[in-house]
Amino acid sequence: MQLRDLKRQYEALKPEMDVALLSAVASGNYILGTVVEELEQRLAGYVGVQHCISCASGTDALALALMVWDVGEGDAVFVPDFTFFATVEVVLQRGAMPVLVDVNPATYNMDVQHLKQQIERVQEEGCLRPRAIIAVDLFGLPADMVAIRQQARQHGMYLLEDAAQGFGGSLQGQRAGALGDISTTSFFPAKPLGCYGDGGALFTDNKEWADALRSLRLHGKGSDKYHNVRVGTNSRLDALQAAVLQVKMDAFENGELRHVNEIAQQYTDALQGLVQCPQVPTGYSSSWAQYTIRLRNKEQRDTLQQYLQQCGVPSVVYYPVPMHEQPAVQAALSEISSCQSKSLCPVSAELCGTVLSLPMHPYLTDEEVRQVIQAVLAGLSASNK
Ligand SMILES: *Cc1c(COP(=O)(O)O)cnc(C)c1O
Repeated sequence: MQLRDLKRQYEALKPEMDVALLSAVASGNYILGTVVEELEQRLAGYVGVQHCISCASGTDALALALMVWDVGEGDAVFVPDFTFFATVEVVLQRGAMPVLVDVNPATYNMDVQHLKQQIERVQEEGCLRPRAIIAVDLFGLPADMVAIRQQARQHGMYLLEDAAQGFGGSLQGQRAGALGDISTTSFFPAKPLGCYGDGGALFTDNKEWADALRSLRLHGKGSDKYHNVRVGTNSRLDALQAAVLQVKMDAFENGELRHVNEIAQQYTDALQGLVQCPQVPTGYSSSWAQYTIRLRNKEQRDTLQQYLQQCGVPSVVYYPVPMHEQPAVQAALSEISSCQSKSLCPVSAELCGTVLSLPMHPYLTDEEVRQVIQAVLAGLSASNK
């Protein structure tokens, strides 16, 4: 069994996939081009925004958004403490200050109360300019974007939605990818919509930004590639990956997303009350990038993980280290320490010691789902003795 079985997905999609791959190779056009444009239009339509701009990775997508907003030195960017490092890394790359915000103990997403406190603190300290909020749709569940957007508006900040894990989820009928001023996603193979390598995309309704992003991803091109009007980068999607994503999107829309939701429900029905299961509040839907349970303490978590391993059930700790404890973040924060009193994120620290992600993908069989549940139940009762 695998946490996310990409080989099994390929086997299921093989006939369509092989045709798509070969025709992309035969086309003789390998970077951007019509296949990529068609994919961008399809994804914009699916998400429900005017513009989709593909690029080379989810990390680049975040970096490009901060570039187009000219976020840099002296700017405060509010980011969750419990996330994948890329969310914070892009802020540091720009020379801006990531202000870490604790997460909600029920949803694991950015805690709006703590966000308000952190914004106030930055304003009182007065040496950084609140510029942007990056909200992450962690494990597939959209962040509390309605309340977070209100904070962004109130303080004149940009709102960036990191939907690397959220693609396919929704909030009050709006899809993830449409919830920020700019939203980004990743096509890393293990994400809800993954390709066969690195890839990413940005979504926005703002035409000016969309045009600037298309320029930035291609060396700041003006009217053509050899007319450069801004300093950009090389971050484009391959035609091959776009061809892969067309086939994967068909599968995603025709059952994969529904199926991961059914599996999540089976897990929750069986485990609710014994461990903290993922919560999907009313009005939200998740794309289940991960199904992550929370144990009583670190000892119970580590014991269960070992037990699962003995049963042949893989599990992973997402994430073992909170952002405020990452050496790269600590080094950066101490350099600008005069502007940054220590931010405490106790919930995030606690989650790193107690969470565990179980196998989750649309090609798990009923038998495998039962096996995971049985192993977790047996592991828990062993640890309760
Ligand atoms: C995976 C991920 C990214 C980065 O995406 P890549 O395509 O791997 O660069 C950014 N943010 C979050 C929350 C992610 O999970």
